[in-house]
Amino acid sequence: MNDQIAIHIEGLTKHYGDVHALVDLDLDVSRGEIFGFLGPNGAGKTTTIRTILDEIRPTAGSASILGLDAREASVEIRKHIGYVPGDLAMYPNLTGKDTLTYFSNLRGGVDWDYVDHLADRLDADLTKKVGDLSSGNRQKVGLIQAFMNRPDLLIMDEPSSGLDPLVQREFQAMMREVAAEGRTVFLSSHTLSEVQRVADRVGIIRHGRLVAVETVTALRSKAMRRIEFEFASPVDPDVFRSVEGVRDVEVTNHHAVLSFDGTIDALLRTISDRYDIVDITTREADLEEIFLTYYRDEEVTA
Ligand code: ATP
Repeated sequence: MNDQIAIHIEGLTKHYGDVHALVDLDLDVSRGEIFGFLGPNGAGKTTTIRTILDEIRPTAGSASILGLDAREASVEIRKHIGYVPGDLAMYPNLTGKDTLTYFSNLRGGVDWDYVDHLADRLDADLTKKVGDLSSGNRQKVGLIQAFMNRPDLLIMDEPSSGLDPLVQREFQAMMREVAAEGRTVFLSSHTLSEVQRVADRVGIIRHGRLVAVETVTALRSKAMRRIEFEFASPVDPDVFRSVEGVRDVEVTNHHAVLSFDGTIDALLRTISDRYDIVDITTREADLEEIFLTYYRDEEVTA
């Protein structure tokens, strides 16, 4: 096994009766990278995570984590990872600090200076009972619990839910620091904007299938633009569609919006031959738009 690989997943499949929650999923995550695991609700993200952590058994396939077999070495693996489940169970009557003490006892001690440092950064109040905290503030305790042992691999299932934007930014900085130290982050999310900000690579899962794995840089280099036109008169969408590189044309009366990765000169010539252009705005497409454009087919047919 290549020791540069943090997570290796092969043919992972999970059926719940007729529900094919995971279908033949293959994936490698390298050490030192931040991998964004992106998909809508119900796509199979949690099932993937719980299977590789041996909380549920796959119908077929296997996984290894940090070079260890996910099933045979699941106890050993837990010593080296930090995990933020989607629904971390905590005792409501314990304070944040007591909760972290409880988790640290399971793992053989913790560096409290580091815990205080993390709590400071996330603006977490560890003196209150977790049952009295808002879900976002409770989530901070969950994050600290995952980071506090400086694990080799962090596996987090929708960890940002409920965090306000400032805290999210700090959390993203914390993930980047983990990766800079050669440790690995596996981040499941349904929000592309978050993944786009922090991940090196992104895998997209829909209906239990991994439909794409790309580096964020490669996605950006698709260099797609969103272009909006205002015309003097109503326009025919087919005129746009005839130009190479045009996708996702939306026309309403005098107004057209489209995605474009071709030669702008060719586009403008074709259009200005037919119509009077009143105004144009153009900007770089964000990843959400790139994804929707490039992976729409998979979404429809999967
Ligand atoms: P979310 O963001 O909503 O948690 P997810 O991508 O994590 O979504 P999963 O929770 O992995 O998705 O669910 C994948 C599919 O498997 C869904 O269709 C879900 O309804 C189904 N599923 C998950 N657990 C079970 C179960 N115990 N019994 C039956 N079906 C299940």
